[in-house]
Amino acid sequence: MSPAPVSLYNTLTRRIEPLQPLAPPRVTLYTCGPTVWNYAHIGNFRTFLFEDLLRRWLEHAGYDVFQIMNLTDVDDRTIKAARQAGKPLAEHTAPFTQAFFEDRDYLRIKPAHVYPRATEYMPAMIALVARLLERGVAYRGEDGSVYFAIAKFPTYGRLSRLDGREIKVGARVASDEYAKDDPSDFALWKKADAEDEAVGAAWDAPFGRGRPGWHLECSAMSLEEIGRRFGVQTLDIHAGGVDLIFPHHENEIAQSEGTTGQPFARHWLHGEFLNVRGTKMSKRHGNFLTARDLREQGVDAAAVRLLFFQTHYRQPVDFTDQALDAAKEGVRRLGEFRGRLVERAPKDNESGPLSSLATRLEADVAAALNDDLNAPRAVAALFEFVRGANRELDRPDVSGGTARALAAFGRMAGVLDVLPTPKALDPELASWVEERLGARDKARKSKDFKAADAIRAELAARGVEIEDTPQGAKWRMV
Ligand code: AMP
Ligand code: ZN
Repeated sequence: MSPAPVSLYNTLTRRIEPLQPLAPPRVTLYTCGPTVWNYAHIGNFRTFLFEDLLRRWLEHAGYDVFQIMNLTDVDDRTIKAARQAGKPLAEHTAPFTQAFFEDRDYLRIKPAHVYPRATEYMPAMIALVARLLERGVAYRGEDGSVYFAIAKFPTYGRLSRLDGREIKVGARVASDEYAKDDPSDFALWKKADAEDEAVGAAWDAPFGRGRPGWHLECSAMSLEEIGRRFGVQTLDIHAGGVDLIFPHHENEIAQSEGTTGQPFARHWLHGEFLNVRGTKMSKRHGNFLTARDLREQGVDAAAVRLLFFQTHYRQPVDFTDQALDAAKEGVRRLGEFRGRLVERAPKDNESGPLSSLATRLEADVAAALNDDLNAPRAVAALFEFVRGANRELDRPDVSGGTARALAAFGRMAGVLDVLPTPKALDPELASWVEERLGARDKARKSKDFKAADAIRAELAARGVEIEDTPQGAKWRMV
C-alpha cells in the first residue's frame, strides 16, 4: 500500500505542498535538537512535540520515517556554561543530555532513531570544512578562523528571503547567533582560544586547531548520517523552530549545498514559539518553565500535549495556567469517555451508530492532519466524537458499534497521545483487584453474569478498567 498524501507548508517555497520524499516510503527527517548547556524549557519542547506529531502522523500514513535529532554539545553557549561551572565541557553537558532524555520520555515523545552528538562527529566536520576550502567558498581569516564566503554562494538567503538586503562582501561574524539584518560571512571553524582549551573544546585540524561553529555541526551530522545509511545527500524534511530559519538553517543550506551541489532538504518545516504574555519563552528572558517543573507539579504529560496541539504549529501559543487547567480537564474527559467505551464494549453488537461515528472520526482526523498537520482540527474532531458518542451511550436502548468506536478512538487519540497516564499502582489495591477478578471469573464460569457484572462495576468504581482477552481478563487504572 502506498502512503496516503500528506501536505505540509514548506518554508522554502512559502506554500503548502504535497510531501514528495526522494525514495518513498522512506522519509528522512532531521530535527535540530537541544543545546545541552542547561535543561530544555517547554518552549523547546513545543517544537519537539510538533515534530513528534509530524513523525507519528507520517508513520500512521504509511511512511517509514528515519528521524535524526542532534545534540548540540559544543557551541558558544555550552562552552560558556562549562567555563562558569568550572567543569570540562563533556562533564558539564552529560547530565543535561540525560535530563533531556528523561523529559522526552515524560512528554511521551517518540525517541529519534539516532541522536548524534556534535563532539563525536569531528572527522565529518573537518572534512566538510576542507571541502568548502577546496571549492573556494570558504577562506581562512587573518584571525585564524575559517569563514564561509556568502558572496560565493549565489542562492544565499533563499530560505529566509534576504533578497533585498545588501550582502557586504567580506563582513564577518564569529558568534553562532546573529540578527537577520546582518547577513555576513559566518564562522565554520573557530580558532581555539584559551577558554575553549580550558574546557577541552578544541580539536586539531589541517586548517588550525579549533572548534566547529554551530551551523557546521548540523550540516556535517545530517549529511554523514543519511550518506552512510542511505547513500543520499538530500534530506526529505528538515525541521526546527522559526528562530532557526536565519541564520542557522540558511547557513546549513549554504554549507551543505556548497559541498554536495545537491539540494540539502526538500521540505523545510518551522514551528512557531511558545510565548508567555506575548514574549518568546527563553532562558534569556527568564520567563521559562522546564518539563521537570511540570512533572514535579504532577502535571500529566497528556495535558501538555493537548494544550500544544490545540493550536496549529505555525501559530504562536501563549502559555497560561488557565490554558493548562483547561487542557487537564480535556484530558480527564477523554479518559472518562474511554472508560465508558471499555465498560460497554464487551456487551455490545458489532455495528450501529457508534461505528459510523468512528468512521467519521478517522476521516476527520486524517483530513485535518494531512492538511499541513492541522492538529487543532484533529483535536476538535476528537471532542466532537466524544460528544456524539456520549449521546449514544446515554440512550437506554444502545446502540451498537462500541468495540469499533473504542478501536478508532484509541488509534486517533493515540496519534496525538493525549489520553491520561494510567495511575501508579498501589500493591494493596493490586492484590484486591486480583482477588476480585478471580471471583468474577468464578461467577462467569458458573454463568452468574449478574454477579460478574456487579464485580466489574465494583472495580470500575475504584478506577479499574477490565478488558477480557483470550488470555483472560486484563486490567489497568484509568
Ligand atoms: P536550542 O536548545 O536553543 O538549540 O533550541 C532547541 C529548539 O527549540 C529549536 O528548534 C528552537 O527553535 C526551539 N525553541 C526555542 N525557544 C522556543 C520557544 N519559546 N518556543 C518554541 N520553540 C522554541
Ligand atoms: Zn541544527
